[in-house]
Order: sequence, then structure tokens, then C-alpha cells
Amino acid sequence: MKTVRICSIASGSNGNAYYIEYGEEAILVDAGISAKQILKRATQRKIDINRVKAVFVSHEHSDHVRGLHVLCDRLNIPAYMTRGTAEGMRTYYMPKNPPIRIDVDGVTCIGDIKVHSFSKPHDVIEPCSFRVECGDINIGVFTDIGCSCEGLVENLAKCHVAFLESNYDEEMLRAGKYPAQLKQRILSDKGHLSNAQAADIVRAVDAPCLHTLILSHLSADNNRPQIALKAFAEFADRINISTASRYEAGEVFTVTTETAETPQIKIVFPERLDRAAIN
Ligand SMILES: [Zn+2]
Ligand SMILES: [Zn+2]
Repeated sequence: MKTVRICSIASGSNGNAYYIEYGEEAILVDAGISAKQILKRATQRKIDINRVKAVFVSHEHSDHVRGLHVLCDRLNIPAYMTRGTAEGMRTYYMPKNPPIRIDVDGVTCIGDIKVHSFSKPHDVIEPCSFRVECGDINIGVFTDIGCSCEGLVENLAKCHVAFLESNYDEEMLRAGKYPAQLKQRILSDKGHLSNAQAADIVRAVDAPCLHTLILSHLSADNNRPQIALKAFAEFADRINISTASRYEAGEVFTVTTETAETPQIKIVFPERLDRAAIN
């Protein structure tokens, strides 16, 4: 029996990094805070960073790549990204070893971890989201998305755990201090998902296995964790919902498949060890 461990190391416009471990191997999705901070936060959460064999890059915005070169060089691991992301990235964020190219609709294996990439609407060259398949367990990393899309619907439907962007409260954004152009960018179909848009997606997608939802990439200026959680209140009786922090690593979620024949999935929460098992 292999265990999946999942942790948001950083989440927000100040930096993103999501850790997914399966057996002896692990990957990071994005490295958008300094390598020093990633290592420090991983240690605080008792994550062995040496298990990380690859960093998958969702797109070239600096909040997703700021620590990439130092981290990859220090751990001597490759970065995986689409051709467009490599073209769009500032050269000083690029690791010494050239990145390994992934297709925007493809599957990449790192040991037994299968990383499915698919395109998403966002204002960069060739962005993608990821569904990470670890045996019977699927974990989604879905942030920086302007609007719902076919790939998101298809992949969220297969997930047990998902990091889902819930970037802003529309009223706060519209009434807030951002310049009109920036507001327009965030609100556009290639910007970010609002709390209401993200909740609409969960409402619309038939995701029978979805057990844990971690609301991610929350805006510091145009959102609050309590406001985002409120938008998802109707799902609270069947889905564990929490928010990922901009300032610290979140709790480590442990997911196990109890038997191969009847893949009953058990998700263990550090502070709530008796959480429900699901089928
Ligand atoms: Zn971002
Ligand atoms: Zn972005």
C-alpha cells in the first residue's frame, strides 16, 4: 500500500508551490517562492524535499517560477513545461539544465506518478493545469484560470483532492483600489476565477470521488478566507473544504487506498484523524 501526501507549500499571487508525494517519489507543481522558503516550509511540515524528482510548471508568471532555477539547480532535478512556457519565461528563472518539454495535452510519468497536463484559459503563451494520478488517487492543481473549460470539467470529475482557484470576491474587486485595467484583466476569461465562479464549477461538475477541496490562490486585497469558504458552504456536508495560505505551508493531507480489490480511500487529516472513509 502506497501513501499519497499532499501539501500546499505556498498559494497566492505572492507565490505558488504544491507538493504531491506518492511512495518514494514526489513532484512539485510550480516553484513560485524562493527555494530557501520552499525548503524551510517543507522542513516545517516534515516533508523530505529530496523525494522531489521534478517540478511541473503551470505557466511563466513569476508567482509560479520565482524559485525554479535555484531549487532545480540545488536539488539537481529537471523542470517540466510546455514549449510556450519555456519561451515566455524570463531567462533568469530558467534552471541550468534545459527544461523537459511536455505537451499541453499529455501524460508524463515520474516513477509511478502520472502527471496529466491540459490547457487552461489564462493570459500567457501556453498554460496548463495538472491532474496528478497516484495509483487510484487523483489530485488536481487548478489555479490561474480565467473561466471554466472542458479540460477542467473532465479532470475535476476524476479528482479525490483538488486545489481549486478561488481568487477574488467580485464585489471586493470591483469596489477596490486596483486600476481599472488590472480589474478588467482579473475579471476577464483569461484572468482568475472568482469565488462564485469556482463554486459554480463545483456545482456543475459531477465529481463523485471529490472528498477534499483546497481553495487556492486567494487574493490578499480582494478576498478573505472566510468569504471564499462561505461561497462553498453548500458543499460542506460532503466535501472537506479549506483554504490554502499565502503565508505558510498548509497541513499535509495523507491519502491511502486500503485494498486493491475494493479501493476504499481514506484521507487522514493531521488534527482530525477520525475523518470519514469514502468509496
Ligand atoms: Zn498565479
Ligand atoms: Zn498567472
